[in-house]
Amino acid sequence: MRKKIVAGNWKMNMDYQEGISLFSEVANMVKDEVIGNQQIIVCSPFIHLHSIASLAKESENVSVGAQNIHQEDAGAYTGEISAKQVRSTGAEYVILGHSERRAYFGESDELLAQKVNIALTHGLIPIFCIGETREEREAGDFFDVIKTQLEKGVFHLSASDFSKIILAYEPVWAIGTGLTASPEQAQEVHAFIRKQIEAKYGAAVADETSVLYGGSCNPKNAPDLFSQPDIDGGLIGGASLKSRDFTDIVKVFN
Ligand code: PEP
Repeated sequence: MRKKIVAGNWKMNMDYQEGISLFSEVANMVKDEVIGNQQIIVCSPFIHLHSIASLAKESENVSVGAQNIHQEDAGAYTGEISAKQVRSTGAEYVILGHSERRAYFGESDELLAQKVNIALTHGLIPIFCIGETREEREAGDFFDVIKTQLEKGVFHLSASDFSKIILAYEPVWAIGTGLTASPEQAQEVHAFIRKQIEAKYGAAVADETSVLYGGSCNPKNAPDLFSQPDIDGGLIGGASLKSRDFTDIVKVFN
């Protein structure tokens, strides 16, 4: 049975104190209210990682992730943060391939493949995001776009490395817009993603890979989305900034 996962992406929100408070609230709510064995991952800005990873040690099913790393091991890259540095904070995951990094920071599929490799080298698990823009959906190109993102970003991995990663389907037109893919639209793409994994790595690996949905997910729409057979949880942006909303989304798997 593949893992059910709800991951929060705080993006560039929360000052240090606000972040610690938010994480503590979530951890307490999870402790009191979550009865399933779903995995919860909070992806914060770098400044919170060490502190919240320490707090997470007291919580059985809450883990911590970063939102970016540099593709090189170490060196003269002023202002950048390496996979090894992130791992040394106690964080275990990193979001890679988010559409905001692809669009605003010019991150190409080739660069992302390097980041995936360095993450795995240092024991960080990538949450690798893929998804089409509104234009690509309207043009009917979205399956090709997603296939290419998979092929260039993660299909170079060995089956054993690929088995460690988490995928997130995030239609760009649904991120932060209040527009959500319908459960049927999302399921169609998730099933396609699983088919691609099966073609590359076989049915057993495809069956074990968690594929999350992201894009204006909230406590109202999460139950229908998460009940689809190939949707294994969510990557949550805006709603992860409210402890009540985020925990309610997590509780869909109770
Ligand atoms: C995201 O940034 O990964 C995301 C899904 O954002 P939102 O939930 O706000 O659409």
